[in-house]
Amino acid sequence: MTVYSHSRLSTFENCPLQYRLKYVDKIKLDESETIEAFMGSRVHEALEKLYKDLRLSKTNTVDELLSFYDDNWKKNYSGDIRVVKEGYSPQNYRDTGAKCIREYYARYQPFNDGKTLGIEQIIHIDIEGYKLRGFIDRLSCSGGIYEIHDYKTSQYLPLQSHFDSDRQLALYQLGVQDMFADVREVDLVWHYLVFDKEIRSRRAAQELLELKNEILVLIGTIERAEEDNDFQAKETGLCDWCEYQSLCTKRMHIVKTGQMSLNKYLNDPGVKLVNQYVEKTNEKKKLMEEIDAELELLKEAIIAYAKKEGVEVIRGNDKKLRVRIEEKTHFPTKEEKGRGELDAIIKEAGKWEAVSDLNVHALAKAMNGWSPQLIEKIKEFRRMEESCRIYVSGLKERE
Ligand code: SF4
Repeated sequence: MTVYSHSRLSTFENCPLQYRLKYVDKIKLDESETIEAFMGSRVHEALEKLYKDLRLSKTNTVDELLSFYDDNWKKNYSGDIRVVKEGYSPQNYRDTGAKCIREYYARYQPFNDGKTLGIEQIIHIDIEGYKLRGFIDRLSCSGGIYEIHDYKTSQYLPLQSHFDSDRQLALYQLGVQDMFADVREVDLVWHYLVFDKEIRSRRAAQELLELKNEILVLIGTIERAEEDNDFQAKETGLCDWCEYQSLCTKRMHIVKTGQMSLNKYLNDPGVKLVNQYVEKTNEKKKLMEEIDAELELLKEAIIAYAKKEGVEVIRGNDKKLRVRIEEKTHFPTKEEKGRGELDAIIKEAGKWEAVSDLNVHALAKAMNGWSPQLIEKIKEFRRMEESCRIYVSGLKERE
């Protein structure tokens, strides 16, 4: 039977194709870790050591923890670790991890906020027969108040609303409540270490019930996708971190060509086709702009000719043109000068309801029946505009 986890559910929500490759096809690529994940693991190890040693009555100094962190960094680091964000070096991340540990230590020393019950504590959750599993970074308790701690080394600090609706720790709360009989309250605690910030949230019984229902709906969607083998690729900002880019229809060509030598790249048939297509599209756009400009000049010349000759219809070889020149009433629009004053006059005259949100195109009609003094006042805002239209039609037999 499938055992779900928060990350398994999130993977499906983020991208069904990534879910298929990872959990259905179980494809393991020899992909290197990102520097963010690498740094996060090293910081987690240091905090794990801190609390494991505390359980055995050993309090590490901050320097001891930092030296443990540094040793692990050196031991595990390899040139394969991927730095995705431009402009940052591995050393920037190494220093950031060390800063996280230093600041955490200073904030929580002497680490007596409750009893630590578990570090990397496995937790099992049962929702109507569906099994879920997770790992709590640190589970502590004081009296009947339990705390689920999660350490984050993300560079992004979400808003409180994010934590109040977070699924992962609320899910773990369900497991903790099943695990211990004396649970009175559960605090969900996130440590955003890069920001030296602690965020807390609680879940009411009703919210946990809704969470269970949401998870059941999501699992139902996943199972349907599996039955139909229908896993759509969903491109988002997270794709840059996706290990399956080389297998994904949306990214594989980009990844493949990004690894080619310049010569191979320029001779790639796909690259060539795209370049030709873009070139032709640009040519077409330029040509259309030139034709539009020529047509505009011709239109001006035709109107001038019609006015000079006093004609409305001009004939050509196969077609004729009808030139319609009209005077139109124009009142200032909301963006134009004088509109505020015009609105005030109409309101003062008690006619606002007749035009409501003043539609300047309908105003000329609406004025019929208004007092001559009011019409005169409003006319001051009016200007006459010339509107010219040209219609092309076929010549009749005898024309
Ligand atoms: S690259 Fe993006 S769209 Fe493709 S599988 Fe990965 S997450 Fe999904």
